[in-house]
Amino acid sequence: MSGNEAADELYLDAASTEPVSRDVIEAMMPFLTEAYANPLSVHQPGKTAARVLSAARASLAADLGARPDDVIFTSGGTESDNLAVKGIAMARMRMLRDRYGESVKPRILISAIEHPAVAQSADWMERWFGVEVVRIRVDEQAHIDMAALERELAQGDMTDIGNGEHETAGQGSGSALALTNRTLLVSVMLANNEVGTIEPIDEIARIAHAHGVPVHVDAVQAAGQIPIRMRDWDVDALSISGHKFGTPKGLGALLLRGRTPVEPVLSGGGQERGLRSGTQNVAGAVALAIALHESNERMAGRYRALAESRDRLMDAVLRVEPRAQVTGDPKRRLPGHASFVFPGLSGEALLVDLDARGIACSSGSACALGRHEAPATLLAMGFTAPVAKSALRMTFRTPLTPGQVNRVAAAIEESCHSLTHAHLSAPAGAR
Ligand code: PLP
Repeated sequence: MSGNEAADELYLDAASTEPVSRDVIEAMMPFLTEAYANPLSVHQPGKTAARVLSAARASLAADLGARPDDVIFTSGGTESDNLAVKGIAMARMRMLRDRYGESVKPRILISAIEHPAVAQSADWMERWFGVEVVRIRVDEQAHIDMAALERELAQGDMTDIGNGEHETAGQGSGSALALTNRTLLVSVMLANNEVGTIEPIDEIARIAHAHGVPVHVDAVQAAGQIPIRMRDWDVDALSISGHKFGTPKGLGALLLRGRTPVEPVLSGGGQERGLRSGTQNVAGAVALAIALHESNERMAGRYRALAESRDRLMDAVLRVEPRAQVTGDPKRRLPGHASFVFPGLSGEALLVDLDARGIACSSGSACALGRHEAPATLLAMGFTAPVAKSALRMTFRTPLTPGQVNRVAAAIEESCHSLTHAHLSAPAGAR
């Protein structure tokens, strides 16, 4: 390890946010300062902006295995998840009630490890519209229980009381889904933010569609890290967030197939197919397209090196600290994502101690000092609250050098040692 390597701050919190590259800033600049017109304006500068917007849309779609018409630009992952969950649920609820009457009890199926942007959107539907929210359990490595998903979907099946013809939900490209299940939507994540486990999305879509239910995928943590083929997987809606792959914060997209019914959440000028009103951010759309394309190209070249350095890091941590356990699936996980629990220690104290040693990482959940809540994903995976509170997440987009792996392992060894020592030497009442 070089002297410099030891002195530098090591940023291992890429899953929280990423820096913006020079290339992305340079690509955005002309659309902030020169070609700044509103893409809906009829004059020539407006037409130029509209052309740029549609090129960005096409590029983004191609990099996600989708079509340009699928792309709805938003302000980020949170907004995309809200539009998908609330918008699809509201639209299908109306269709369901038109067809079957008010006595139908609609439901939403989500996994037990969804981000609050999905989980709380579903809860909002429960609070305001009485929609039942069913959380599908996960196993101890955060894999969704497919048998439970299938069972819950089967429970929502309804006898078709229609006039003999199959009523379908939504129009547009692709075959629409039959309206024969009181489940409005299945919403699951492609890769978990806290433990990195990757879910079998194509299989989930196949099962849900067999019951006529659309599928929304939160791909916020996965975009730019693993290949995404939205249409091949037959997914109906998919959320991404730019700042996880190198755009400024506050940019994202919901990819939504035309066949999927959705009620807009924002009312206004009707931009983005009438589904997301608000003057479009042309420079932001360019940033999304460029940053995702660059991330995908980098990913193709360094996937193996990234995953190998992750495995070396996990092995090194387990070697220096016998209490450590890897969380999530040890193999089927994001390539630059290592996560652990350290039973008996406080994850918050560990974070602070590692930070003082120049290593910036995370507990894997929204965590404010003094309000350290147990990460919801770990609780759903069956960890007790005290163990869940010992979680640590290290995420990176560039393969770690052997020197960096050694440095992190040494810092963890020292931190664990000094925190154990501090804990044991504290008076019993102060523990
Ligand atoms: N979904 C997941 C899985 C996330 O990890 C995050 C952010 O961490 C979000 C949604 C929210 O994205 P944004 O920060 O763009 O609102």
